[in-house]
Amino acid sequence: HAVLGIETSCDDTAVSIVTSDRRILVSRRVNDRPTLTKLGGICPGLVAQQHRTLLRPLIEECLHSVRMRAADLSAVAVSTRPGLVIALKEGVSAAIDISRLHRIPLIPVHHMRAHALISSFCHPDLQYPFVALLVSGGHSLVALVRSADHFELIVDSVAGSAGECMDKIGRELDLDCSVDHPGAALEKAAARAPLGSHLSLQIAGVPSSNGVSFHFAALKSSLLGQLNKMRTSGESIDVDQFAAAVQHQTARHLCSRLHASLEFLSDEGSIGEGTSLVMAGGVAANSYLRGCVEKVCRLHSLRFLRLPPSLCTDNGEMIGWSGVKMVEEKSPSIIPWESVPSSLYVHAKEEIGRNRT
Ligand code: ATP
Ligand code: FE
Repeated sequence: HAVLGIETSCDDTAVSIVTSDRRILVSRRVNDRPTLTKLGGICPGLVAQQHRTLLRPLIEECLHSVRMRAADLSAVAVSTRPGLVIALKEGVSAAIDISRLHRIPLIPVHHMRAHALISSFCHPDLQYPFVALLVSGGHSLVALVRSADHFELIVDSVAGSAGECMDKIGRELDLDCSVDHPGAALEKAAARAPLGSHLSLQIAGVPSSNGVSFHFAALKSSLLGQLNKMRTSGESIDVDQFAAAVQHQTARHLCSRLHASLEFLSDEGSIGEGTSLVMAGGVAANSYLRGCVEKVCRLHSLRFLRLPPSLCTDNGEMIGWSGVKMVEEKSPSIIPWESVPSSLYVHAKEEIGRNRT
């Protein structure tokens, strides 16, 4: 069967149709990074306006290009949480209309769960439970995934996220962010730096009193503090070298906490040799960070699964595929078309699952 996936939780208007036999029939993603860069970041009113104008024609175009009618779909899946409320509402309202008009079930999808679940699209043999390391613009967390509807939150971030930390510093370094996310621009700059640059920064440690939790806001402050110190002392700053060091410090923070959380999971017997770990979310597109996480996995005898970068950043496929998995696993969250209300609650924040620490 084929499921339509709609994603509008942030600045991407993304639509895709995926099938239960793992085909992406069509995929479209639109955003306006140059304008948002000029405005200094995400502007909720503006992105909602973009979804309002572009989403419905984009859905029509997708269906048309694969010669399908909406009634041929087996369900419509949509991000309902977490994200920008006014942006989510646009996707949800389109999904409600399609569901009611064409009499197909509506599947509300948790955006962060979808980031993790797309891994089973790429790796058909992936077994539950698996570990998900989710690193994106708004989240940094480790979860144990028991089914499409059953996630356990193992480690969260006290404040900030890996993506936001790299974005902020990328912008501060004046990298060209008109095409890429600042985090991706930072990776490109780091790749140009001479060998050994990653070790060029000594930064104050991030508080360790939070146990295994991430604290990317503290890391960001340390890095920005260091940058300001270098600037005020008149030291010349090699942007590429600084980017490489930032990337390395991000990896250190990520890996030290990941290592601790894997020890915890292993001690309690939740994971063992051969358990899979997937790294997903926009920051998982970073190949340096991926390499570092892969080493941690090897240490714990876990199987490290990678995703293509296009399925790491926000996309419609992950929402459609989550719908496929939820149908397969008979999720109680699926709403039959007859019961679809005229509006649905969307949430700016909702934990991925029960918090275990
Ligand atoms: P969330 O999923 O938490 O709601 P989001 O949907 O806005 O946040 P994603 O689209 O999943 O975030 O990811 C975007 C983030 O990924 C941005 O912070 C961006 O800088 C970062 N990112 C993208 N590519 C790379 C890269 N190559 N290296 C590092 N960071 C990257
Ligand atoms: Fe995302």
